[in-house]
Amino acid sequence: MFRITLVCVKNGSLRLDVNSRETRTIPLTYSSSMASGSQSPVFTQAPGELELIAAIRRRAARRSPDIRLGIGDDCALLRIRPGEELAVTTDLSVDGRHFRLGTHPPEAVGHRTLARGLSDIAAMGARPVAAFLSLGLPVELTIPQLTENDSDSKPWSTRFFDGLLALATRHKTPLAGGDLCQTTQAAADIVLLGGVPRGTALLRSGARPGDLLYVTGTLGGSAAGLALLEDPAASEKLPQRTRSKRLAPHFYPQPRLAQGDYLRRRKLATAAIDLSDGLSTDLHHLCQASNVAAEVDAALLPIAAGATLEQALHGGEDYELLFTVPPEIKMPKAIAGVPITRIGCVMAAHKSSPKVSLLSYEASEPLLPRGWQHFV
Ligand SMILES: [Mg+2]
Repeated sequence: MFRITLVCVKNGSLRLDVNSRETRTIPLTYSSSMASGSQSPVFTQAPGELELIAAIRRRAARRSPDIRLGIGDDCALLRIRPGEELAVTTDLSVDGRHFRLGTHPPEAVGHRTLARGLSDIAAMGARPVAAFLSLGLPVELTIPQLTENDSDSKPWSTRFFDGLLALATRHKTPLAGGDLCQTTQAAADIVLLGGVPRGTALLRSGARPGDLLYVTGTLGGSAAGLALLEDPAASEKLPQRTRSKRLAPHFYPQPRLAQGDYLRRRKLATAAIDLSDGLSTDLHHLCQASNVAAEVDAALLPIAAGATLEQALHGGEDYELLFTVPPEIKMPKAIAGVPITRIGCVMAAHKSSPKVSLLSYEASEPLLPRGWQHFV
């Protein structure tokens, strides 16, 4: 049996230490199974940038009336539909901050990278038009990982695109361009473009006193999944099916595009935001933008299976929609199969009272923004 250790990557070559005795140098060239019709590129050695781009281009190719020209030229060319505005958002995911190479499956990292952008598009009630991805990867993530049986498996980068492109296909979002770079730390920056009829986008700033507060889906599932990931002992006690179910909201959050589109088309919501940083923090953002206050009723919160009240209030990355609706509007129980829950109400803002409060056991207390904070 061989034990192979990567010694260094230098001058276009990999130096590998074999069984701690022998050092082999392998030039960095590329071969791909794409030519034989396989759906996934398999890099037997580290690919060059051009080969990697070519493989991604083949996989990302999909017809869309919005794209005149996708990957392969200096710019993509998009067609803007008459009467539409462009909604644009960008999200950076970095190893050690937004995901961990050691614990997150590559497919989940790819899925989450795109889901973050799509969720912002959903919060505006827009439809996705195109995604652009800048990807920085250490070279070892582009070559097959040796498995325990000494057989090659797909490179991390291929599995990353498996996850990203599966979600892109589900939401008819073409990957229309991007950039690649060899880096010491893995990072993925996604740009999403959405189209929305002029003047109709859902904004954070339209909530009015008297409106009711609603959320889609359940809350705290992603934080509960992350807690499980960080506690292997607790995780091992759960049956495999339960463990997978509990991890799914963290690994594979579902952007609520159909729900955002429904709210905008029917003019139901006065304001909306997606829950990326946690309910307590994102509700503060919405109240700040609308210059209102809000009260959340703890007893009404749709807490995800296995999650705590704390995780539902402050855990980020649920990617559900939080929105406000005038009280005279009767809301459906579900939109496109996803439950809708009233969780509180909007009130007038007063300097002396907190912007956001939590009602529990008949007492109302300030609800501080204790969700995800950037730069801490
Ligand atoms: Mg957002």
